[in-house]
Amino acid sequence: MTPRAHFERVMAVLNGEKPDRIPCIPQITYTTAQLTGVGLVEALHSPEKTADALLAGQRELEYDAIYVGWESSFNLLAEAMGCTMRFPEDSVPQVAEYVIKSPSDLDQLTIPDPHSNGRLPLHMKLLELIKNRVEGQIPLFAYTPGPFTLAGQLCGINDLMMATIRDPQFVRDITEITTEASKTYAMANVSMGVNVIVTADPTASGSLISPKTFESFAAPRLAAITKAVQKAGAFASLHICGNTNSILDLMAATSVSVVELDYLVNMVEAKKRVGNKVILMGNLNPTELLLTGTPKDVEEASRICIESVGGDGRYILSSGCEIPPHAPLENIRAMVTATKKYGHLP
Ligand SMILES: [Zn+2]
Repeated sequence: MTPRAHFERVMAVLNGEKPDRIPCIPQITYTTAQLTGVGLVEALHSPEKTADALLAGQRELEYDAIYVGWESSFNLLAEAMGCTMRFPEDSVPQVAEYVIKSPSDLDQLTIPDPHSNGRLPLHMKLLELIKNRVEGQIPLFAYTPGPFTLAGQLCGINDLMMATIRDPQFVRDITEITTEASKTYAMANVSMGVNVIVTADPTASGSLISPKTFESFAAPRLAAITKAVQKAGAFASLHICGNTNSILDLMAATSVSVVELDYLVNMVEAKKRVGNKVILMGNLNPTELLLTGTPKDVEEASRICIESVGGDGRYILSSGCEIPPHAPLENIRAMVTATKKYGHLP
C-alpha cells in the first residue's frame, strides 16, 4: 500500500465520497512512546523525539492519520495565557494556579501567539517536523481547546459551573476570550498543514453540564470555531468525552464534519439521530478494552462497530477517547486489522 492511500481514504470520507474501506484513526499520541523508548515527560521538551514517536506509531501500526500532539491543547493554552503549571515527574503538566481568580481578572487576559507564548512554539515545531515528513500522505489531526474547557482551565471548573447559574455574564465573557484563543491556535495549526482540527471540549460533556447550559454557552462558541476552521480550508471535528447522548443533536448542529463519540454513547442510536448530518467516529473503550482487553476482544468490538454503523462509509473507527500510555500496541494493531478485514465497501 502506498502511504498516500491513507490520505485518499480519509479525504474521501471527509468529502462525503465512498472510501475503499473504513479508516482507522485511533486517538493515539503518547502511547507511541513505547516504540521509540522516549520518556513521556522527556518528549514534552523535545519536538524531535515527539515527532519520531508519532511517526513510528503510524508507520508500524498503519492507522490512517496522525494526531499531532502530546499533552492536551487546553493545558498548553492555559499555560500560555498565564496559568502556573505543575510538572509531575511521570505525567503531563497540570494547572497549579488559575490565572482568573475573580471576574475583574478577565481584563488582563490576552490571546496567546502560538509562535511565541509559553510552550506553544514547541507544538509549532512538532507540526513542522511532521508536516515535512508526511504532508499529503498521512492526514494530520490536531486538537484545539473547546472554549468551555479552556475557561475551566483558566478559572477552575467548579467556579465556571457555579457561574453558569450565578453569573452567566462572566461565562459569556470568559468564553468569548477562550473562543478567540482557540481560533487563533487552530488557524496556526491549519497554516502548519493540519487537515482536521479537533475541538476538544470535555468540560462541556453531558456528564457535566445540562443540554440547556450546553446550548446557551458552549454550542454557539463551538459553531464559531467550526466556521473559522472551515473558512481556513480544514475540516472540523468535535470531541466531547463521556456521555453525550443528551447533546448529540446540538453537537451535530455546530456544523462540524465529524462527531467523535466516547464509549458511553450507543453508536447505532447516534447513527439514527445524526448520521445523516455528520460522520461518526468512535468509540472503543480506551481502558476496559484497549488497555486491558486482548487483541481478539478489540478486533471483535471493532467488527461490531464497523458492521453496525459503517455500511454507508460515513464512519471512522476510533477509540472513544485518548488511548492510555500503557495500552498494548497489539490492541491498536487489532483495530487496523479489523478495518482491513471487515471495513471494505462494495
Ligand atoms: Zn475524550
